[in-house]
Amino acid sequence: MANLILILGDQLSHRLSALEGADKDNDLVVMAEVHSEASYTNHHRKKLVFIFSAMRHFADALEEDGWRVHYQRYHPDNPAQSIEQVIAELAREYQPERVITTECGEWRLHEQISRSHKTLGIPVEIRPDTRFVCNIDEFDRWAEGRKQLRMEFFYREMRKKTGLLMTSEGQPEGGKWNFDTDNRKKWAGKPPAPAPFREEPDAITTEVIELVNEYFSEYFGTTEGFHYAVTAEQALVALAHFIDFALPCFGDYQDAMSDNEDWLFHSILSPYLNTGLLDPMEVCEEAVRAWHAGRAPLNAVEGFVRQIIGWREFVRGIYWLLMPGYARENRLGNSRELPWFYWTGDTKMRCMHKAIDATARNAYAHHIQRLMVTGNFALLAGVKPEAICDWYLAVYIDAFDWVELPNTLGMVMHADGGYLGSKPYAASGKYIQRMSDHCQNCHYRVQDATGDRACPFNSLYWHFIDRHREDFANNPRMTMMYRNWDKQKSERREALRARADWVLANIETL
Ligand code: FAD
Ligand code: SF4
Repeated sequence: MANLILILGDQLSHRLSALEGADKDNDLVVMAEVHSEASYTNHHRKKLVFIFSAMRHFADALEEDGWRVHYQRYHPDNPAQSIEQVIAELAREYQPERVITTECGEWRLHEQISRSHKTLGIPVEIRPDTRFVCNIDEFDRWAEGRKQLRMEFFYREMRKKTGLLMTSEGQPEGGKWNFDTDNRKKWAGKPPAPAPFREEPDAITTEVIELVNEYFSEYFGTTEGFHYAVTAEQALVALAHFIDFALPCFGDYQDAMSDNEDWLFHSILSPYLNTGLLDPMEVCEEAVRAWHAGRAPLNAVEGFVRQIIGWREFVRGIYWLLMPGYARENRLGNSRELPWFYWTGDTKMRCMHKAIDATARNAYAHHIQRLMVTGNFALLAGVKPEAICDWYLAVYIDAFDWVELPNTLGMVMHADGGYLGSKPYAASGKYIQRMSDHCQNCHYRVQDATGDRACPFNSLYWHFIDRHREDFANNPRMTMMYRNWDKQKSERREALRARADWVLANIETL
């Protein structure tokens, strides 16, 4: 045999760099469901089903395409419990010339694979991941020498590089790079939100569901109602579904939340993009075609393209630029454990309950729920970045370290000093009231900041501002908040502090 080609669970693409130039007759593709990857966090059971089933479908597709594939199915008693052990066993058996793989999405595994040539005694070739618009070296060059790394400027470079939504004169379509100001509407039930794309489980998925129910019954969430796509073909249908039914309103209601609708006008494409079932450029080009055909407005299409070639690429660049130290950042010095209701949804705070309940059912919550509800609460309450990062990594179907960590540690917790935002996304209950209908169904009163029934977000917001004066008072984007805080009568400030202290001391009862 010539080479072992290692393909990981988030590398399910026929165009993967590890497969380039490979020899179908002599090389062996290796894929493995291993205990160490399935159990390093309390993964949502739907996430496990999705990844195992998509891996099995992809292995079958490779075999149909003429590849030789060694596939290890999950069993808790498998002798090889980690990727390294699987490769070591096969290397002993087949004596390959080398191992070829594509760089992986997690520092922990990257370290293991980079060092594995020492124990294997054969070369391990790690190829760049070409499934991104901007590779790691290119991002490093862009970042070099810049005082501040801002997504907006990076995004403009990516627009120019890809030509997406650019005129033939090299200008942004519509005369503006960013139409975000048009994208902040509250949703009041109209137009109706489309039903999400559904793919019923086939025989492979059904078998995986049984496996996950048997061996991962203690893990978060449920396998019930699993409906995600598990092949590239199905993911393309999910893309078409989004373009037809949700994209036209994606921009308008991008920041909206609803008490009754889990998905609103979001694409629900992140699981497919992150595992290689969909290609980011193919997704963006499809959205731009819809705009050219008059099927979706520019604010929606620009907003969508920005999330993918802007935010998605930017957070990946930040991750690889700053790891491994990045994962240990805690610039706000937080020390609180994660409240238990993050795992149960058992809280009287309606917005939190709704976001966590949807997460447990679907392994999905949309961006604003992640950022402005569960994230905002963790920021205001001063939860340890490590604890909240572990939660996000576990509970979402699309969670992989390279994308989850910068979003949580950086964007939500501001624990990195501000790479993902020039100020923290801290907000009181007023924001949640403005963007949703949760407050009208809540035990707490959003209009109150003190008193037994006062919305916990309100006093916590001021507590956050007060306790982080040294961190933020000189930030020009925060001056107004400090002015508002200082303007309040001292008795009022004391009452707010007292209410926040009570909320923090009794956090598990909220
Ligand atoms: P849409 O709203 O339809 O957006 C379209 C696409 O844009 C997404 O599919 C995604 O690929 C991309 N995108 C949008 N925002 C971001 C972003 N901030 N960073 C990276 N890509 C983005 N996204 C993940 O893919 N995996 C994660 O583990 C993850 N963890 C997050 C944790 C927190 C605390 C926050 C605030 C955000 C996180 N995000 C993560 C980003 C974003 O919330 C999800 O990508 C999005 O909700 C996925 O749903 P969607 O496909 O319907 O997205
Ligand atoms: Fe959330 Fe406060 Fe509104 Fe209740 S009142 S839903 S806790 S923002």
